[in-house]
Amino acid sequence: MTPRRKAVELHCHLDGCVLPDTIEALAREQGVELPRPAAELATVRPGCSSLIEYISAIDVALAVLQTPEALFRAATELVDQWAADGVLHGEARFAPELHLRRGLTMAEVVAAVADGLRDGAARTGVDTSLILSWMRPSPPAVSWRVVETAAANPDVIGVDIAGPEVGVPLVPHADAMRAARDAGLRVTVHAGEADTAREMWEAIDELGAERIGHGVKAVHDPVLMWRLAADTITLELCPTSNVQTTAVASLAEHPIETLRHAGVPISLSTDCRTTSGVTIEDEYRSLQAAFGWDASVWNETQGSALRAAFLPAERRPAVEERFATSVR
Ligand SMILES: [Zn+2]
Repeated sequence: MTPRRKAVELHCHLDGCVLPDTIEALAREQGVELPRPAAELATVRPGCSSLIEYISAIDVALAVLQTPEALFRAATELVDQWAADGVLHGEARFAPELHLRRGLTMAEVVAAVADGLRDGAARTGVDTSLILSWMRPSPPAVSWRVVETAAANPDVIGVDIAGPEVGVPLVPHADAMRAARDAGLRVTVHAGEADTAREMWEAIDELGAERIGHGVKAVHDPVLMWRLAADTITLELCPTSNVQTTAVASLAEHPIETLRHAGVPISLSTDCRTTSGVTIEDEYRSLQAAFGWDASVWNETQGSALRAAFLPAERRPAVEERFATSVR
């Protein structure tokens, strides 16, 4: 048996990880017509020019993820992908507001995904956590509904804000985030990907973010890097996705090494396995080629990912034990 690799994936969008074959099968079952093969529609094209274009590649998966059966299947298959990729602990996130087109309630949508993750975890032994996102352009009424839904489902451990950044302020969501924290939910926020480091300060100081999704723009703000290091606010970096969305110009110019050497806690994720067309193992090999990373650097970043994981206290010792006995 191959020894388990040490991978912890914190930033993974369920709807960006649906296998193209699954999209095809669900479309057939549901009578949804696809204009082109799912593999083409769901994977970002070379020459993608923005975060907005990247996000649009998820539309085809959203078209078929509108029933409990489809949501369950996407979730359980994500856990299979983690197991095959050496992931010991994986955190799935998605925005329930995008799955209400066929009349499901948010609570039903979340229950189907939670069931799928639990099924996958039971079959594979991968430890999983569930984070609910809402979209940044959504009105506060939506953020409040997501927080209520999250607080009511014990399978949900945290909340997140995703979606377009430029020109869409974070601060209107501050009250809902405060309610989420008061309900004991963990908080991560997408920021500093398409927009500037300034909004990362808002995510931390106004919204109480414990982790930041992407946050590559922190490299332009030395005081912010100091703050991230001092308060152990972990960045969820997704190198391939960061290049595809043009948050960084190329992998060679990715600020990951500058951030790491500045003491900023970093973690590595795929963002969207299908949209980006990568696994965690692919990311490791790319970083090895670009920056000469070896297993010790990998294990250090995976260790900081595990420390930042949204893991209930009762599950943490078992995951840490498996991490300690796994090899890169
Ligand atoms: Zn993301």
